[in-house]
Amino acid sequence: MSTIFDKILGGEIPCHKVYEDDHVFAFLDIGPLSTGHTLVIPKERKAKLHELSDDASAAIGRVLPRLARAVMKVSGCEDYNILQNNGARAHQAVFHVHFHIIPKPNEASGLGIRWPAGSLDGTAGAALAQSLRDALA
Ligand code: 5GP
Repeated sequence: MSTIFDKILGGEIPCHKVYEDDHVFAFLDIGPLSTGHTLVIPKERKAKLHELSDDASAAIGRVLPRLARAVMKVSGCEDYNILQNNGARAHQAVFHVHFHIIPKPNEASGLGIRWPAGSLDGTAGAALAQSLRDALA
């Protein structure tokens, strides 16, 4: 499925480009939560993170900290969030993998987070971790 980010990658609609290499493109978010809010996307067209190829994943991993350093330097913000939403229930609006770099200058701007923490039962935790190890094998 084509998304607005394909149009940005293809130059059909404009953006404020921040970075580009063979696999990765970064540009300013059109609806920033704070000054410097930047989106980092793979050129590979995949909706969710787990669908990305190893090459595209590695390419993003290589440049994300560098891009975060640039955002920190220019925004003057030491604190920031990296946000990566997968699926509509998880607040994804554009179905092309993207990482948000969002400076957090103060309580009022940047990303607000609701964090309804539960508690991890020891027995259930051991079983769950085993299931995850099995899934990775
Ligand atoms: P999501 O909720 O999918 O994680 O975030 C999608 C982000 O894409 C939003 O923060 C939104 O402001 C941004 N966005 C949507 N359309 C455009 C666009 O046409 N240009 C730019 N630069 N950002 C966009």
